[in-house]
Amino acid sequence: MAYSLWNDRIVADEEIVVNKEDRGYQFGDGIYEVVKVYNGELFTAEEHVDRFYASAEKIRLTIPYTKDKLHQLLHELVEANNLGTGHIYFQITRGATPRNHIFPGLDVPPVLSGSAKENPRPVANFESGVKATFVDDIRWLRCDIKSLNLLGAVLAKQEAHEKGCYEAILHRDGTITEGSSSNIYGIKDGVLYTHPANNLILNGITRAVILKCAAEIGLPVKEEAFTTTEALEMDELIVSSTTSEVTPIIEVDGTVIGSGQPGEWTRKLQVQFDTKIPTGIRS
Ligand SMILES: *Cc1c(COP(=O)(O)O)cnc(C)c1O
Repeated sequence: MAYSLWNDRIVADEEIVVNKEDRGYQFGDGIYEVVKVYNGELFTAEEHVDRFYASAEKIRLTIPYTKDKLHQLLHELVEANNLGTGHIYFQITRGATPRNHIFPGLDVPPVLSGSAKENPRPVANFESGVKATFVDDIRWLRCDIKSLNLLGAVLAKQEAHEKGCYEAILHRDGTITEGSSSNIYGIKDGVLYTHPANNLILNGITRAVILKCAAEIGLPVKEEAFTTTEALEMDELIVSSTTSEVTPIIEVDGTVIGSGQPGEWTRKLQVQFDTKIPTGIRS
């Protein structure tokens, strides 16, 4: 039996009834997080919970629980599902009330929900690398918020999927921002480049871990945007996210990147990343 987070409780899935007037359902008026679980242990939960509260504040949504309470609920969610390796998803919406763009009153409580999913690490992708395609970044100008509004991301990912690609590399007039649900990096002549963490990208927790790993292995980092043309001439390209970790990109729109194999720096970053993964309480 699967258990979910529903406001301040862990309940059996069957018990949950979603209100059709929920603003998440009608407007995408809410925010979310995905946290990786390795061997029963949450990874970088602190950072994810902090970003969850930061996203909420940016949309003027007040989460009616303390961070400690949320951490406790997330742990309970993992335990209730006896989750080994996979991830948890959770979101909060601005509540359920008759449809109206204007915020509801304080009497309408936000709706917190979440679930757990067993999911092996995509090790074949880490080893062989993946293909990507360039897609216009048509999203709004607050990509720093992990919003439930994902139409721009959904359309881009679907386009990539239909082209047989793992990810869409988004660009604004030729300047690469990030992936549809990931961050993008290029390595050229021993320097790692990635878009600065401003309003045009979601500042990934994995991104922060990778920048730390880069420092630890002596790979200089420049948080500078690069173009689609420059991307094709990089020695190595990487896509990262909570679930993708450090995934090499070996081909973009039919152009082979570097040697067509995951590069040396990428390998070193993967090895360094692995040292940070919890060894766990369950396998
Ligand atoms: C979640 C997300 C990422 C990756 O963030 P992580 O914290 O590393 O999972 C990057 N870009 C977008 C658009 C995202 O939604």
